[in-house]
Amino acid sequence: MKNLSWIWLGVLGLSLSMGGCGDDDPSGVELAQSDIDAFAQMNSAGARSFDQKTNGLFTKIFGSTEGPEVRKFFEERIRHVIDEDTPVYVSPKRFAQESWTKDPSSEEIMKEKQVKITASNLSMPLWLQSQFAETPITVQFNSVTLPMTTSRNGIMIVGEGYQASETYQGETIDLPISYRQGVLLHESRHSDCTGGLTPNSIRIARSSTSYRSFTQDFDRKSCGHHHTYCPPGHRLADLPACDDHAWGAYAIEAVFLQAMSLELADETEKHILLISAYDNVSRLKLSYSAMVQRAYGEPDMSSTNAVIPETTP
Ligand SMILES: [Zn+2]
Repeated sequence: MKNLSWIWLGVLGLSLSMGGCGDDDPSGVELAQSDIDAFAQMNSAGARSFDQKTNGLFTKIFGSTEGPEVRKFFEERIRHVIDEDTPVYVSPKRFAQESWTKDPSSEEIMKEKQVKITASNLSMPLWLQSQFAETPITVQFNSVTLPMTTSRNGIMIVGEGYQASETYQGETIDLPISYRQGVLLHESRHSDCTGGLTPNSIRIARSSTSYRSFTQDFDRKSCGHHHTYCPPGHRLADLPACDDHAWGAYAIEAVFLQAMSLELADETEKHILLISAYDNVSRLKLSYSAMVQRAYGEPDMSSTNAVIPETTP
């Protein structure tokens, strides 16, 4: 996983966080598993209250206001959660065309801005790569062999920013479980190829020379819910950490966090969730409130592996 090309593949579906790390935190995968289990105790009163205010938006996105169903939403899209140092073997080793995944400047900018990767979706870029290269791809890790035959054979990598607590100005703050569950749901959204690919979008991806040119030209961003580069002046300027299409990973994470902040007695937790929701909203190039009011239509949470033929005008 130290190989550069894999680091850049990770850039496609990443969540970013800032701040330090507690010493006695459990391993990322253990923490993620306990967060997945904790969907059973999800704040469904908050989800129901959010639904009342938004014409049922939480249910339209996650399928239900009940935790076990939201867990199902996640598990339909992410099948495996692994640590960033887990050895991953991809076959075939080299692809005819992978320059669309590369952004050599990101690592430097992330270091400079002290941004850490919270989590990333490894399977979506690999599945897309198999579509672009017209080559079947198989991934092996631990004792698992996974053919990349569907975008929803999801593999989430837990990064160093996935943590139980944050140290801020010398003070350690426990992060709410639902804060991290928002990250899980964000990554799961990257497993959706909503609307499918087209022959033209495949041609664009094949001729992209960098991730930056890919995000500028690729006209099927909802296939993988790819981020675009944040604009100049943004806290994350020049990083692919913003969204320019409706109902991408940041928007659905914002909806989840905002809903979880409702009907909550703990004021500190409420504030952390609201700050995190605003952070997600700040990554949107479209208006969040317009999105919530359905100015861009209802959220389409479907996914297809099909290549849709272009209609001739
Ligand atoms: Zn993402």
